[in-house]
Amino acid sequence: MMIVVMKADAGVKQTGAVITKVQQLGFEPHLSQGEKKTIIGMIGNGAKFDPQTFLAMPGVENVVPIQQPFKLASREFKKASTVVSLNGTRIGGNKIVIMAGPCAVESRDQLFKAAEVVAEAGASVLRGGAFKPRTSPYSFQGLGEEGLKILREAGDRTGLAVVTEVMSPMDVDLVAAYADILQVGARNMQNYSLLEAVGKITKPVLLKRGLMSTVEELLMAAEYILSNGNPNVILCERGIRSFEKYTRNTLDIAAVPVIKNLSHLPIIVDPSHATGHRYLVAPASLSAIAAGADGLIIEVHPKPEEALSDGAQSLHPEEFAELMSDLCRIAQAVDRVI
Ligand code: PEP
Ligand code: MN
Repeated sequence: MMIVVMKADAGVKQTGAVITKVQQLGFEPHLSQGEKKTIIGMIGNGAKFDPQTFLAMPGVENVVPIQQPFKLASREFKKASTVVSLNGTRIGGNKIVIMAGPCAVESRDQLFKAAEVVAEAGASVLRGGAFKPRTSPYSFQGLGEEGLKILREAGDRTGLAVVTEVMSPMDVDLVAAYADILQVGARNMQNYSLLEAVGKITKPVLLKRGLMSTVEELLMAAEYILSNGNPNVILCERGIRSFEKYTRNTLDIAAVPVIKNLSHLPIIVDPSHATGHRYLVAPASLSAIAAGADGLIIEVHPKPEEALSDGAQSLHPEEFAELMSDLCRIAQAVDRVI
């Protein structure tokens, strides 16, 4: 893919003329308006062209190829880090965003209690699955739309935004009607029809790294969402499969700076699914923030012993509150705030 870089003082007319030219050549233009410069990406299989076509146009500074296989997700395309905004909460800025709540919405009581404790401790987003991707078809599958309703109500009551998983393209509109952020789970990272469907909405998407996926595959999955028109993608490292058995997955901490280097998209870490054990959630969380993560998504349950899923990795309310205060100190050390 080629990108056309406009001069800092290029006007709207000049940018418009470049966009028209891009379309005439049979490409789809993707505009990225930086603080200083405007960049136009040329997506798709258009006609062969001489870069001089653009270099000769007024306001054009340069025409450069993007080397990476992911284009719109790359830092080559967009130098400034993307900040995903949702009514008041900004993900990818200086402030670290904490998402917390139970693995699944189990009941009104359970979720309202969870929402209260995570809000009190300083989280800004409430998590809770209504559609659960379970290994066994006999395990609790989630409450479906009823769960979404409870989640929305609990979020509104406590002033928290809400994130929840969508498993099927057919459910995207339903989930988007209740949630502030739609989660694409690890198992669905390469479900291309789902990626296309969440690419066609504008609500933020939390895209989790697949169990066996490379960073490049994660960024290519993000590219599906971006190229379908949704710029609001948040990436999530949640551990990958390895031979190690003392942890549920192997948390790839280095993926955080690797992704920061390759992409402008925000990246958060899920220390709960990455480790699988309550005692490992705090150290994994602290190291994620030290490594430069923009946020965390942590499982917290009012009574983890009674959880219908992932109880062993869910924090008790008081453990979560204690972790939040420890996180503040790490955040300070890396010039961030919580
Ligand atoms: C979850 O966050 O509820 C979940 C199922 O995570 P993952 O897709 O990372 O396994
Ligand atoms: Mn879970």
